Amino acid sequence: MILGKSIERWQQEYPLLTEIINTNEVFWINPQYQAYNDAILKISLTEADVKAADERLKKFAPYIAKVFPETKEQGGIIESPIIRIPRMKKQMEEIFNQEVICENLLLKCDSHLPISGSIKARGGIYEVLKHAEDLAFEFGMLSREDDYSVLDNDIFRNFFSHYSIVVGSTGNLGLSIGIMSAKLGFNVTVHMSADAKQWKKDLLRSKRVTVIEYQSDYSKAVEEGRRQADNDPKNYFIDDENSMNLFLGYAVAALRLKEQLKDLKVVVNKDHPLFVYLPCGVGGGPGGVAFGLKLIFKDYVHCFFAEPTHSPSMLIGCMTGEHDKVCVQDFGIDNITDADGLAVGRPSRFIGKTMINLLSGIYTVKDNMLYRMLSVMADTEKIFVEPSALAGAPGMFNLFMTNAGNKYVIDQGLPDKIQNASHIIWATGGNMVPQSEMSNYYQKGVDLFSSSKLNL
Ligand SMILES: *Cc1c(COP(=O)(O)O)cnc(C)c1O
Repeated sequence: MILGKSIERWQQEYPLLTEIINTNEVFWINPQYQAYNDAILKISLTEADVKAADERLKKFAPYIAKVFPETKEQGGIIESPIIRIPRMKKQMEEIFNQEVICENLLLKCDSHLPISGSIKARGGIYEVLKHAEDLAFEFGMLSREDDYSVLDNDIFRNFFSHYSIVVGSTGNLGLSIGIMSAKLGFNVTVHMSADAKQWKKDLLRSKRVTVIEYQSDYSKAVEEGRRQADNDPKNYFIDDENSMNLFLGYAVAALRLKEQLKDLKVVVNKDHPLFVYLPCGVGGGPGGVAFGLKLIFKDYVHCFFAEPTHSPSMLIGCMTGEHDKVCVQDFGIDNITDADGLAVGRPSRFIGKTMINLLSGIYTVKDNMLYRMLSVMADTEKIFVEPSALAGAPGMFNLFMTNAGNKYVIDQGLPDKIQNASHIIWATGGNMVPQSEMSNYYQKGVDLFSSSKLNL
């Protein structure tokens, strides 16, 4: 029994659940998707909040440029390139045996964000900076008028060393929070789930971050982190499941993307829709980015989340409306996937509730598909990203090759505009993966192509 109902009852109510439980790939269109003007009324966060986060990151930019020299060229702004990937498009069309007519297929390379090489360098670093600023303001050590590069100083490092930051993570959030917190001088502890890769733990320990390892999944790591921070005012817990600051840090991406698209002469308007495919774990990263994109492009942008077939937590949460009250294990799904960044069995309620009327849909991807896409991306575009980061790659084909996808295009009034569309695959991580590990990923993809035909 799950929330008082048998699995059979759940399946009757939500026929797609049978496919989900069988870990088949599915494409779910969100029946609660609404026009922007209606949907946005129900959300308390606004564009002003995102702009304030953007301003805060600009204030910190001189400091970031100083302590992370790799960001100097960009003036301490942590941002990633967006590029056209025509060779990848052509190769995927052959693999899927489906031509896609569109104006642009783009790759957003958050895999190559400086400092921590994943989308977590947005939200994670933002939240640590915000917390440092709050503390420094509270004790009169810093004011809004100051040049924040003064933070690169032993007086501040000593001050922050009296405070702790704690987080639970499958790996990449831990990297971002750990690296940033240690740089400022905080004591920082990362609670790592069993999915977390050894090299991430080693890297953090080399930066004097305390790493605690668990044999269980992400939810347990978060729970332990939360417990550690409980009842200690000097101990700040970064709550990946509920944090508004993480969310806003991610959302800033949209303001920057708007300018990047302008530079690339990519048009988004009534006749030129934009489709964005975002890998989803607990939901904060893709949720924040999608929220920002909706603020800017409103009804002209269509956001889809992508999850592994073995970790469809946001899908089950949104489809049933139960959000964090259900987890994939309740339905007999094991939450075991090589997409470690997406290995989350229970979704964020905050994200599910915030995004429920703004999100176009969610689809699932098999791990083998992620590996295949990884090797194709490497072969065609010479870009190496981690398995999680490829979940967005098949999105465009899912849209065009499923009944649900075709129906969405019709229902949204897009059939005569779809050929003018741009599609963005949001690549969420990979730049810091050690070469030997990346070679293994790549080889897995290559082997899958040679050992069998792509079984769609
Ligand atoms: C964390 C992560 C995601 C998803 O972000 P959530 O906030 O957990 O939904 C996607 N890709 C990679 C590589 C990640 O590390």
